[in-house]
Amino acid sequence: MLETEKRELLRGLPAVDAVLRAPAADALVSHHGTKATTAAVREALGGARREILAGGEPEVTEETVLAVAAKLLAGRGLRRVVNATGVVLHTNLGRSVLSGRAVEAVVEVATSYSNLEYDLTAGKRGSRYDHAVPLLKEITGAEDALVVNNCAGATLLALSAVVAGTSAGEIAEASGEPEVIVSRGQLIEIGGGFRIPEVLELSGARLREVGTTNRTRLSDYERAINENTRAILWVHPSNFEIGGFTESVGVMELATLGLPVVADVGSGALLPISDEPRVEAAVRGGAAITIFSGDKLLGGPQAGIAVGLSRWISAMRRHPLARALRADKLCLAALEATLAAYLEGTAREELPTVRMLHAPAEEMKEKADQLAEKLARVAPNLSIDVAPSVARSGGGTLPLYEIPSYAVRLKDEEGDADAVAEKLRSADPPVIGRVGEERIWLDVRTLLDGDEETILEAVENLDG
Ligand SMILES: *Cc1c(COP(=O)(O)O)cnc(C)c1O
Repeated sequence: MLETEKRELLRGLPAVDAVLRAPAADALVSHHGTKATTAAVREALGGARREILAGGEPEVTEETVLAVAAKLLAGRGLRRVVNATGVVLHTNLGRSVLSGRAVEAVVEVATSYSNLEYDLTAGKRGSRYDHAVPLLKEITGAEDALVVNNCAGATLLALSAVVAGTSAGEIAEASGEPEVIVSRGQLIEIGGGFRIPEVLELSGARLREVGTTNRTRLSDYERAINENTRAILWVHPSNFEIGGFTESVGVMELATLGLPVVADVGSGALLPISDEPRVEAAVRGGAAITIFSGDKLLGGPQAGIAVGLSRWISAMRRHPLARALRADKLCLAALEATLAAYLEGTAREELPTVRMLHAPAEEMKEKADQLAEKLARVAPNLSIDVAPSVARSGGGTLPLYEIPSYAVRLKDEEGDADAVAEKLRSADPPVIGRVGEERIWLDVRTLLDGDEETILEAVENLDG
């Protein structure tokens, strides 16, 4: 295209003011405000400009610019969505949901001063690391505890502390690089690019692999121990399972080898669920440090929790990385309130995540029947039924564990489920379901209070 033609097209682009004066702009401005809408319109026009400069000839009117701006605004900002996927700890949808008590605790410390780093008994400086510790000790039976930003951070900190923290006398005999032993069956990758070999490297330790992908024995570990060995790392391969000819060594057996065992159990199951390793079992099994997430099966805020022997937890607390990975007061407040529910024995009823994981299937059937009935009333043109569904724990936990559930299924006349899914996603708040068998599946297991009304509204608009 000639430069003159490009210039002509660029000159033909509507002005920002003109776009904002178009009638369709009113709704955007009233919903998102003038500032955000203007910025989105500028961005949309910028896109058109770039397209023209690249040789394109886009059809640009006030209306097309507003449509692009509306899309930009809709996808922006962290906001509530309805999770109708049946995946309880959906990583993309924010993992666990806090209890009412946890939210209240967050609001209280967020909107007032707190004793975050103040010792009320002594009337002087205290430590943020002291919060949640008594609860964690009581619940897990460990000597000491430390809360950091997330489980990946806790693993990095634990390994760094163990590698650096061995006393000078003990290191005197060491002749080479510090080593940490890991079974080849546990050299895993967790979502988000967290890979055990890379974390080990970051901690300053050399990875000493033992065994094979499917089988590792105690003798494999024994043979690998030398004067440079600082620890044994045991990792729960949370997000996959291998079956068949397999063998692995548990924390309790590893602890007999006389080296500190760092156990990354991942999901933080404090209550029994399927065959997920329990935090308490790793502690009782003799792990020096047991590490788990706060926002997986535990059902609390994003946090990395380390519990174990005072010596090693102190070493973690003193390590310079602890400052970089420390938990904030909102996290600590939510975690304390969440842990209190476990101590009081009310976790199954009180913590939404735990409740959704354990609710009986019959309850889901009832919930689905009720929702389907209401939906049929507001959307007579859709074909609606209830079908058994399989819910999942998600969040990289229990990959093969199936939770029997029920879903309300919607089908429009054209049978274009993807189009229906897109419309539900663009509802306000967005509704996220599953597509299958040319239908949308709305699994009721992951629906929270108030979600039904949102779905009814979204589907009513869909039908209209
Ligand atoms: C999920 C998981 C992690 C990472 O936890 P985050 O809290 O997401 O950082 C680490 N290790 C294991 C075994 C896990 O399952």
